[in-house]
Amino acid sequence: MGFDEVLGQKHVVRLLKGALSEKRVAHAYLFAGPGGVGKRFVAKMLARALNCAGGDSTDSCGSCSACDRIARRAYPDVAWIRPEGRSRTIGIDEVREMCRMLAYRPFEGGWKVCVIEEADCIHIAAANALLKTLEEPTSRTVIILTSEHPDRLPLTIVSRCQAVRFSAVPLDEMEGFIKQRLDVDPARVGLLAALSSGSIRRAELLAAEGVEQERDTVLGWMREAAGGVSGAMGAAEEATKRLEELRKKMRESREKKGNGEDADQKREDKRKRDDEFGDELHSFDRRLDVILYWLRDIMVLKVDAEHRSIINADRREELLKRAVRMDAEKLESLIELVEEIRRLLRMNVNPRLALGVLFLGLKGCPELAE
Ligand SMILES: [Zn+2]
Repeated sequence: MGFDEVLGQKHVVRLLKGALSEKRVAHAYLFAGPGGVGKRFVAKMLARALNCAGGDSTDSCGSCSACDRIARRAYPDVAWIRPEGRSRTIGIDEVREMCRMLAYRPFEGGWKVCVIEEADCIHIAAANALLKTLEEPTSRTVIILTSEHPDRLPLTIVSRCQAVRFSAVPLDEMEGFIKQRLDVDPARVGLLAALSSGSIRRAELLAAEGVEQERDTVLGWMREAAGGVSGAMGAAEEATKRLEELRKKMRESREKKGNGEDADQKREDKRKRDDEFGDELHSFDRRLDVILYWLRDIMVLKVDAEHRSIINADRREELLKRAVRMDAEKLESLIELVEEIRRLLRMNVNPRLALGVLFLGLKGCPELAE
């Protein structure tokens, strides 16, 4: 019960276990990577490995008193900070308190570990306080910063941390996790894993929310567009409009010259807008994924009607019918089109334009309509 519970992130685990066994644990780490892939969990596992009374020197046992208290966040030598309040910032008081805690000897004689989650939300003044501690490390202390947006952190901080890159959880491991840990119908596993995009948190959310509902809405749009129903994609167009508005706001704020506004406030606004835009783009992306996986399933069944591992396993009968009706070449070009649109969106192409192209492509496939 330790690092072996981490999903994916094999290189991260190898790196940390290596550092533990050679007693070369860095004074500060920056765990960077997408949300929901296990950065916080690995930070907890490292804190446990450093303080565990039972495991070997490179891992934790998961059952001793130190392991138990670290998991419950009740261990005096391991501190956690995260952005709080409406402003969602990490303030100077929390950071000062953390630095003070690091300056004392460990209560329990092990290691002191401070984890700063979403570290890019740190206030400028707090970042300066942290910098001092990073520059004058005390022995047997580790500071772990986690961030989805390491580019928003001051370079002076980044350069004093060992960067550790986290990546999306591979599909097969995600499927295994969903099967074992989330209470879902086996026919839903494939769809959940595919739409989670490698994020454990998102898989959990989708399992709770009912991912089928969203899929069915998107497929409804697709069917209507394929059937040439005018105005059918109204809801989808709403989403693109929203994306456009957010992008415009971002552009405007970039162009706005400094007008004496508090620099922190500005940074704060920019971050909020970027996050909002990112969320919106993400949900648009996920809708395209729904269409893409649906079309790929049809393709898979067209090639092999007995194929076991399709993503929309709960809709097998319907997919089979469509596979018989649809022409392979047409299907392939439609799949390519959706992939291309997804790529263009990530490159900042106008979403309305992208959606228009998608509608046109779908209109040419009446077989996808009811
Ligand atoms: Zn232990």
